[in-house]
Amino acid sequence: MRRIFFVLLLLGGLFMFGLPHIVNQTANRSAEPPAHSPQANSAKPEQPVKDGAVTVRLYRHATGTIETIPLDDYVTGVVAAEMPAEFPVEALKAQAVAARTYIVKRMLAGGLSNNIHPGADTCDDPAHAQAWLPAETLKERWGLLKYYRYYYKIRVAVDDTSGVIITYQGQPIDPVFHSSCGGHTENSEDVWKFAVPYLRGVVCPYDQPSELVCRVTMPLGEVEKALGVNLSTAVSSGANGLFQVVNTTASGRPKTLLVSDKRMAAVDLRQKLGLRSTNFTARLDHGEITFTTVGYGHGVGMCQYGAKGLAEHGQNYAQIIKHYYTGVEISKL
Ligand SMILES: [Zn+2]
Ligand SMILES: [Zn+2]
Repeated sequence: MRRIFFVLLLLGGLFMFGLPHIVNQTANRSAEPPAHSPQANSAKPEQPVKDGAVTVRLYRHATGTIETIPLDDYVTGVVAAEMPAEFPVEALKAQAVAARTYIVKRMLAGGLSNNIHPGADTCDDPAHAQAWLPAETLKERWGLLKYYRYYYKIRVAVDDTSGVIITYQGQPIDPVFHSSCGGHTENSEDVWKFAVPYLRGVVCPYDQPSELVCRVTMPLGEVEKALGVNLSTAVSSGANGLFQVVNTTASGRPKTLLVSDKRMAAVDLRQKLGLRSTNFTARLDHGEITFTTVGYGHGVGMCQYGAKGLAEHGQNYAQIIKHYYTGVEISKL
């Protein structure tokens, strides 16, 4: 019943926003990239795409053009850009479903009216939307042989989950993800403003923090400038006083810090210093501060390295998704 309601809602939404109707796409798998690969569609938004298929109008920053791409071709380019292709196929499927959910939610919400690129549903800049890479870039990145292997692998993940999205109470979710949480993901309100019911911190049992530890050293003056603080008093009182943890998040990362006498959100400090995560320690030595971070990214939603680990331990994509997004359902368009 809920599924039927959702489908009606979705179709109603698509009709309202003038999008083509959604059809259940049958698997369209081949050993080679499809002829309608993104670059073959070259920059003509009005170019007809196969009847009945949902298409995405993608603004490409490199060319300044809008390309109209079948939904699952778009999803393939996102997965290729957002997750290492070496990852297990169930992890790639989880990423594909997240990517599809993202764009469906965006199109249902009326991407046109709140988009910085008029006439487009989304763009390929990860700072604005999901990253997306065209075939020519993937060929350069992977080399031709790996390109065919990886493209096929990702395409399998996309086709096997065709039409599948993540919903919470019948609505597509905001499927945020990050590279590595370091062992526990975050509650949304500890990183951003709002508590989202399906973005709860969870244990991430198979993350590999030892591989994701990063050290970066910066001159003291550079840190002071970036944070707008004077650390001389803290320095004279010993390195332990540099960044005092006022409180921590559910996962135990610093949430609020006292830097000199200034209270600072750890997410702001991370952003200003360009650290990989807020899960950090700092050490002062000879006028330089060495930051050691664990994990990579904001820590909210699906953890990609954790998804890899779960897949390697026999979990399928639906189990992976339900692990990282609390109380969600796997729904079919
Ligand atoms: Zn953009
Ligand atoms: Zn993790």
